[in-house]
Amino acid sequence: MDGMTPTTHQAMARFRASLLRRASAVAWVVLIIIAAQAVRQQVFTQPGFWIPMAGLAAMLIISTATRWDRPMATRYAPWIAVAWLSGLILGITAFALIEPLEATATPILYGIAAVSGLLLTWWAHAFMTVLIGLAIAFIAREGGADAIADVVAPVLTVAVVSAATALVGLEFEREAVRSASRETQIDQQRLDFERLYEVSATLARAESLAEIVPHLVGTICKYLDAQVGVVLLYNPERHRLEVMSPIWVNGYPLETDPIVLDVASPAIVAQVYRSGRPFFVRDIDQDTDAHVLLRELGLRQALVAPLKVENLRVGAIIVGDPYVGTFNEDQLDQLGSLAAPAGLVLSQIGRYEAQAEMTRRLEEVAQMKTDFVSTVSHELRTPLTSIIGSLDTVNRPELAPTQVAAQQLLSTARRQAGRLQRLIDDLLVVSRIDRGAIPVHLEPVPLKLAFEEVNRVVSIEPTFTIEPPDLIVEADRDHLTRILINLVENAAKYAVGSPVELYAWERPNKAVIAVVDHGPGIPDDERERVFERFTQIDQSDTRSKGGTGLGLSIVKSLAEVMYGAVRVEATEGGGATFVVELPLARALQKVESR
Ligand code: ADP
Repeated sequence: MDGMTPTTHQAMARFRASLLRRASAVAWVVLIIIAAQAVRQQVFTQPGFWIPMAGLAAMLIISTATRWDRPMATRYAPWIAVAWLSGLILGITAFALIEPLEATATPILYGIAAVSGLLLTWWAHAFMTVLIGLAIAFIAREGGADAIADVVAPVLTVAVVSAATALVGLEFEREAVRSASRETQIDQQRLDFERLYEVSATLARAESLAEIVPHLVGTICKYLDAQVGVVLLYNPERHRLEVMSPIWVNGYPLETDPIVLDVASPAIVAQVYRSGRPFFVRDIDQDTDAHVLLRELGLRQALVAPLKVENLRVGAIIVGDPYVGTFNEDQLDQLGSLAAPAGLVLSQIGRYEAQAEMTRRLEEVAQMKTDFVSTVSHELRTPLTSIIGSLDTVNRPELAPTQVAAQQLLSTARRQAGRLQRLIDDLLVVSRIDRGAIPVHLEPVPLKLAFEEVNRVVSIEPTFTIEPPDLIVEADRDHLTRILINLVENAAKYAVGSPVELYAWERPNKAVIAVVDHGPGIPDDERERVFERFTQIDQSDTRSKGGTGLGLSIVKSLAEVMYGAVRVEATEGGGATFVVELPLARALQKVESR
């Protein structure tokens, strides 16, 4: 902080100094007028003239050369002014005693009475008034006034002028006081705004708490001229205040070990947090419980303010010094106003960091899950392949058991092993999709070929219609057949006994494939959900059909990696129609005319 706060006292001093400067200037003019008069009246050479003239000139030279601001700010100011005016009065009175100059000099004394009213405190002004009254009475007497009225009248005039200017002076003084306090207020506000701006700018630049806290505390310490600054944030899970590291000491950030404070503790800092009101600790005591944290920070005086956002308290800020006596209540107010934007941003960043941490952990967990599924599936696949191989071998005519019961057990084992294999296969595909590691080889695939392949593999015999018959899509052959097999098998499984039809037709730049069944269909409100993982509608029925709830989610992901899409609609007259859209092979895509 540079410069002092302007006070009433200073404003008055400035006012008096400027009045004295102007009075000196006017006095010069008066002196010149009187000198001219003296030359004209040829009294110039009289010692009664030139001695006071020389004295006054010397006084005015000194007065003009002096910078009055300083002296007028001291407590000797009224005495200096009294001396200055007394000198002037003496000189002018001396001139007035010279007969030809009397008419010029006497009115000047009235002027001096007026200036005195503005320049002096009331007692000094009273003194001046008496002095001027006496001078005027004296001049009147010397001038040969006999009647008492001739003496009293001018003295009364002086008294009236004096009283009037004293009143004006009082008003001036009041106004000066008022404008000084307004000025002080405006200055303070400007300063506050500048600081708020700088604090906000500091806050806006930073991205993490670790980055922002030292900046923030440093800036605030600088403004409040404090050596130590500490921010505490409230931890809602543990219900305590935690000191943010680093703390600020002597212009440097200093890393600290964790320091915590229970919110319910009697410590001042906890009290400030609870009450939401700033507090000024003038002298930190060595024993009081309330001063616990402050003492540990090595402080002797401290300002503590809450950090809050609206009514939500997010923490507290401490600034302090290892000695007493330099802080005041104004600084406490300033800390309060600086803490407001700080609280807002700190809480926002805190929340953001917590969120980021949570997201990071969730991602980690998701990654662990994917890795786990992938590892387990691989590990399961090897022994399962060998089990299936053994079962198939045992099932060969030359090895197959002759008893019916044994044959049945064998075929159950083979069927269940097959189910397990499909499940593991699905899990592997899902984990690849999650890792973004699913291979995609896009190539032109004639739909006729794909449909024929599906027909060879599935347990039922769907009919198929392709229009035009040579429709070719841009797809990964394996993924496309996997999608179609999945949909056809689902139709066979859930629309038992119903005919299943495959259709394909051309749309601008894409082929639309439909797998139509006439079974129970899928209720409206389940149509989005069936594509989510592990979704099975009508659990009991589905369980009996041995599903996993992964099939349609795989269909959707595979369609998407091939830049396609899938949805389900109702078949006219009942049943489900799964619609897959895929891009046409590039050679067939028409360039759209613009
Ligand atoms: P699941 O392994 O259970 O078959 P899917 O993801 O393939 O898993 O299917 C999800 C659910 O959608 C199934 O459990 C079933 O209830 C329903 N569903 C799928 N296809 C059909 C269909 N063609 N007709 C009726 N419901 C179906």
